[in-house]
Amino acid sequence: MSNQDWLQRSFSAVWHPCTQMKRHEQLPIVPIASAEGVWLTDFDGKRYLDGVSSWWVNLFGHGHPKIKQAIKDQLDSLEHVMLAGFTHQPVVELSERLSLLTGLGHAFYGSDGASATEIALKMSFHSWHNRGQSSKCRFISLANSYHGETVGALAVTDVPLFSATYADLLRPGIRVPSPDARQAKPGESAADAARHAVNALAEVLAQEAAQVAAVIVEPLVQGAAGMAMYDASYLVELRRLCDRYQVHLIADEIAVGFGRTGSMFAYQQANIVPDFLCLSKGITGGFLPLSCVLTTDEVYQAFYHDEIGRGFLHSHSYTGNALACSAALAVLDIFAEEDILAVNAGKASAFNRLMTQLKQRSDVHHFRHLGMIWAFDVESHHHNFSSLFFNEMLGHGCLVRPIGKTVYFMPPYTITSAEMQLLLSATVASLDSLAAIPAGAESEITVLP
Ligand SMILES: *Cc1c(COP(=O)(O)O)cnc(C)c1O
Repeated sequence: MSNQDWLQRSFSAVWHPCTQMKRHEQLPIVPIASAEGVWLTDFDGKRYLDGVSSWWVNLFGHGHPKIKQAIKDQLDSLEHVMLAGFTHQPVVELSERLSLLTGLGHAFYGSDGASATEIALKMSFHSWHNRGQSSKCRFISLANSYHGETVGALAVTDVPLFSATYADLLRPGIRVPSPDARQAKPGESAADAARHAVNALAEVLAQEAAQVAAVIVEPLVQGAAGMAMYDASYLVELRRLCDRYQVHLIADEIAVGFGRTGSMFAYQQANIVPDFLCLSKGITGGFLPLSCVLTTDEVYQAFYHDEIGRGFLHSHSYTGNALACSAALAVLDIFAEEDILAVNAGKASAFNRLMTQLKQRSDVHHFRHLGMIWAFDVESHHHNFSSLFFNEMLGHGCLVRPIGKTVYFMPPYTITSAEMQLLLSATVASLDSLAAIPAGAESEITVLP
């Protein structure tokens, strides 16, 4: 079977996520036959460098031998058992190890990021309710935030393209300004931009705190907003305000957890501890769906009672899946055994030197970097820049999926300098060829077969 066959069959039978399917009449679906390291290979043998870690989930490359082996070993003893009333070795060990890493001693599991958001929102509300504070039923989230797309999570997500259609279904949340460092005015620093956002939040809390259960944030980087990075001082002040006004702090590290920003968890760069920590995406190294919400003894104790209804009566069928937990344990082993955070720091500074040419381009603005994330905003006359650029990059054998006119790299940590150089050369060539095509002439761009 060739690419063309799989593409056609997928186009007819599979409803692809986050997609206007009609666009695939022009833009090809890319069928992938196999993957190893940073490389995806299609059915005709063409290779693509996975510059976005397959939607931010893959940490150590595809097919990593240690993660594969851990799953195979687990498969020989136990694939899955229900977690209500039962338990097993991988889920116990994973919970203990996540607790050691975060100081948050109680781990509740789901299967994807959005369900982790739902769990954190429900737990926060319910814990206040159990303490007799039922009026605390609203949530504050940041402008341009993204916390997933189920109905509860979408209500705290601020991406109109995803949420506007469903407005009638969503419980209105409270939106506060983002600390996005790009908003700093001339002469201002990222810390100044953060301070403005803190002031706005302080005003809202002073008014509304009695009705607010929690503030939910993506620590240090608002991913879906286009890798909007902000100063850690925002998190310091956010923690202070949450304490002062008795509001929970939910850290959504679904995208940035597990080393992506340079520390194991992004909130650690602000020396704070959240009340809830949502994890998913990288947790299994991109092998299996798993999410986790970690929380404090204080929250846990608010549920611990003789009365059943005071317990957290929430579940997903695959909660704590043993195979997924064994993959997550292998991920933690790799971090510890291979000193990944230190290795990544060295790699990142080498990659930064490679990016000089890109940074200096006149059509590249707000070049930014944190840990193993790089992003910049492109000045382009093409209104559909993101799909044109995606397509150009595919032609160069690279998978990069811009968000609007923001191009970002979020590669697997195992990427080499030579592979990074390939990605950068393809980026420069793609920017050049798109700049050379007049606006409105996009249809002349040949679409890959
Ligand atoms: C991806 C993401 C989610 C949602 O996770 P899914 O597994 O796609 O449901 C939530 N929050 C953040 C910050 C994310 O990046």
